[in-house]
Amino acid sequence: MLTIRKKGAFMAALVQERTPAHRGGEPAPEPNPDALRSGAAALGVPLTDAQIRQFQRYHAELTAWNRRANLTAITDWNAAVTLHFLDSLSVAAAIPNETLAAGALLDVGSGGGFPGIPLRIAYPALRLTLLDATAKKTAFLSHICRALDLRGVTVLTGRAETLARDPDLRERFDAVAARAVAETAALAELTLPFVRVGGVALLQKKADIQDELARAQNAIAALGGSLKAVTPVSLPNLNEPRAIIVLEKTAPSPPQYPRRPGIPAKRPLR
Ligand code: SAH
Repeated sequence: MLTIRKKGAFMAALVQERTPAHRGGEPAPEPNPDALRSGAAALGVPLTDAQIRQFQRYHAELTAWNRRANLTAITDWNAAVTLHFLDSLSVAAAIPNETLAAGALLDVGSGGGFPGIPLRIAYPALRLTLLDATAKKTAFLSHICRALDLRGVTVLTGRAETLARDPDLRERFDAVAARAVAETAALAELTLPFVRVGGVALLQKKADIQDELARAQNAIAALGGSLKAVTPVSLPNLNEPRAIIVLEKTAPSPPQYPRRPGIPAKRPLR
C-alpha cells in the first residue's frame, strides 16, 4: 500500500503542474492522448486510434467505479497515463514475442487491471487471465472487459494461493505478471506455480531492488525459478527508475507450494 500512497503524492504534484484548473460549469476537457501515444511508441508499443479510445474509456470507467471498488489513488488522466497505462505497457518489453502474439498471460493481484488490461488492449491476441482476491475488483474487471469489448478475457476471484492448486491453472501460463502485490520472495510463491516450465514471471518493481532480490533468492529457487534478468524501465515524465524482475521457470514447483492463503506474504521463504 506504501507504493500506492507514494504514487498518490506524485499524482498530486503532476496534477498541479499539468492540469489547468477549469472553471465550474464547464465540461471537463477531453483527455489529451498525445502523451499516451508518444509514450507508448517510446516503449516500442505503437497504438492505433481505436486503442487510444479504449484507454480513454478505460480511464472514464476507472474513475466512475473508483469509489465503489477502491481501485486507485491515481485518477487524473495525465498521471494515469504515466503511472498506470505506460507503466503497464512497459512490461511488454520483457514478454517473449511469441507470447505477445498468441500466448497465455496471467495478471496476479490485478486490482483495477494493471498491468493486464493495458497489455491486452495493445496486444489483442494475448490470452489474458486476471486474478484478484477482492470481488469488488473482479466485478470491475469483468465490467471493463465488456465495456472495452475485450473478448475472451478470463476473470477469476480468489486467492492466488488457492487458485494455483487448480490443475487448469497450475503451470498453464506462458507468462505471469504482478505489480504492487507483495515483496519478491512472496511473489515468487504467488506467481511461479502458475508458470509453465520454460515460461516467465514478470515482477514490476521500483528500481532499488538489490536487497529485496537477495532476500528472495531461496524462494525463487524453491519454487523452480531462476533469475533471468532485471530489466530497467524508464517512463516518460517520471524521474523515478523502475525495473522488471524476470524469473524463468526452470523446474516444476513442488506440490507443497504455494502454502496456505496469507502465509507467503507473512512468512516469505528464506
Ligand atoms: N496490480 C494492481 C493492484 C495492486 S494492489 C496495480 O498495480 O494497480 C494489490 C492487489 O492484489 C489487490 O487488489 C489485492 O486484492 C490483490 N491481492 C493481494 N494478495 C493477493 C493474493 N494472495 N491473491 C489474490 N489477489 C491478491
